[in-house]
Amino acid sequence: MKLLEDKITKDGLVLSHDILKVDSFLNHQIDASLVSEMGKEWKRLYENEEITKILTIEASGIGIACIAALYFDVPVVFAKKSKSSNIGNDFYTAQAYSFTHGNTNDIIVSKKYLSADDKVLIIDDFLANGAALNALVSICESAGATVVGMGVAIEKKYQGGGDKLRAKGYRVESLAMVNSMSPETGVEFYRE
Ligand code: 5GP
Repeated sequence: MKLLEDKITKDGLVLSHDILKVDSFLNHQIDASLVSEMGKEWKRLYENEEITKILTIEASGIGIACIAALYFDVPVVFAKKSKSSNIGNDFYTAQAYSFTHGNTNDIIVSKKYLSADDKVLIIDDFLANGAALNALVSICESAGATVVGMGVAIEKKYQGGGDKLRAKGYRVESLAMVNSMSPETGVEFYRE
């Protein structure tokens, strides 16, 4: 998506080979009209699919998932990061290694908000190694829900998470795909 790529080129900050900071429009301050265009694009891509729920993970997925949900006209459920893995029987749980924080989070979703009837679009801001999306897939599997596909804002393709998910048969629609990046040369986008 050219609009998002241009914004990354203009306002993204490459901190290292692995970390792109997009705090000025996605992760701290949010450019709602840009995110609205992203939501519209995911809706166009998934136009022919039945989707009953959008699933994301706190915190940075929530804003983009909510704006996308306006186009799909479905509720958003966000997985919470739990301080305790001992949370009883009312939740689906999974573990996600946080690439940016270097720790493992237990994530939870209440059984009230996801069921075997749901057809789920999983949305997140970044896709790197795929830990966050795989944990959300695992939550859907526990619920018996169908994963229709995934919508990612920025995929760092060279970190491999997206291609592993595609190899497993999941549809992953990333609006900007980074082929490589460095503080010296900036971001180079992937072209098929
Ligand atoms: P993964 O689980 O795919 O390895 O990493 C995705 C998660 O880590 C996302 O939910 C996102 O919050 C965070 N993340 C991964 N790479 C980056 C990055 O380059 N910049 C920022 N801001 N977050 C990232």
